[in-house]
Amino acid sequence: MKKHNFNAGPCILPEVALENTAKAVLDLDGIGMSILTISHRSKEFEAIMEETKALWRELLHIPENYHILFLGGGASLQFCMVPYNLLQSKAAYLDTGVWANKALKEAKLFGEVVTVASSSDKNYTYIPKGFTIPTDVDYFHITTNNTIYGTEIKYDMDSPVTLVADMSSDIMSRPVDIKKYGLIYGGAQKNVGPAGVTFVIIREDILGKVERKIPTMLDYSTHIKNGSMFNTPPCGAIYTMRETLKWLKGIGGVEKINELNKKKAQLLYDAIDNSKMFVGTAEKDSRSIMNICFVMKPEYKDKEEAFMDFAKKAGMVGIKGHRSVGGFRASTYNALPIESVQALVDCMKEFEKQNA
Ligand SMILES: *Cc1c(COP(=O)(O)O)cnc(C)c1O
Repeated sequence: MKKHNFNAGPCILPEVALENTAKAVLDLDGIGMSILTISHRSKEFEAIMEETKALWRELLHIPENYHILFLGGGASLQFCMVPYNLLQSKAAYLDTGVWANKALKEAKLFGEVVTVASSSDKNYTYIPKGFTIPTDVDYFHITTNNTIYGTEIKYDMDSPVTLVADMSSDIMSRPVDIKKYGLIYGGAQKNVGPAGVTFVIIREDILGKVERKIPTMLDYSTHIKNGSMFNTPPCGAIYTMRETLKWLKGIGGVEKINELNKKKAQLLYDAIDNSKMFVGTAEKDSRSIMNICFVMKPEYKDKEEAFMDFAKKAGMVGIKGHRSVGGFRASTYNALPIESVQALVDCMKEFEKQNA
């Protein structure tokens, strides 16, 4: 049976990207070598690297004064690289959940951290509004999509200081006004590729302002100078990322996928809002179009496990909510077809018919 993959990360990737990767693992473009065994200094891999960067630049309209880096270590290493490179005395963070907190915790190792606003009072079910970004800080850090709670900052905010964003789980899901940001980072495994590669989009002029010594591998300028080839890059993961981005370009780019993503999310949110059994956990104006969180209403709480089994039998994978929210989470990343969302909606309706 065909599975409907709602995993939060690593997540579903376009079928064609997987097929092309499978071929390239055995024989890259007919050269008689595998993508996993060619040299990262070979002209073949250099071309792959260049094309992947060009696709990023084209799809997100990244201006010339920004560098695009592909690194290791995941978004989690960026939690420390950001303050290592940018925090001289003080930084500001928006507290929108677990990932935001992990970033904030690392920053505290390097200086003073101001929490500008927090939605912890309501278990992070909303994006704080009406806060003021301080002007006496080195940067302001936000997490645009809160993967665990299903909340999202769907606009590009104006910041009086360098804006840094963790876009791990909504990169390439919508157009982004890159020039409003000094640095954008994320793990590829939520929307643009397999695990193992981390993207960083950085405006060079934000660097060189801290006095501390930075270890070579943790210094952004090392990777800028060496075109992400200071050490061996994750060649296989970069290849699959290229194929994923080629697919995205082929279907009409970020503008087009945003329309499709909104449609998918609307379909599921409508089903939740019209349901007798299910209820969404995020406040409506903060709802994410990438991770959709819902639970059973109190009177049906004892049915959660039964629904999980029911959905599993119908081919749904990865819909268990994160332990800090409970219930269900359907991740509707770029590569998830609308047919999978429809299948989940049908499954919810059928369960309700049998049980409500
Ligand atoms: C998954 C995730 C991370 C962690 O990414 P790793 O690549 O596993 O380190 C960080 N931030 C957000 C918003 C995430 O969704």
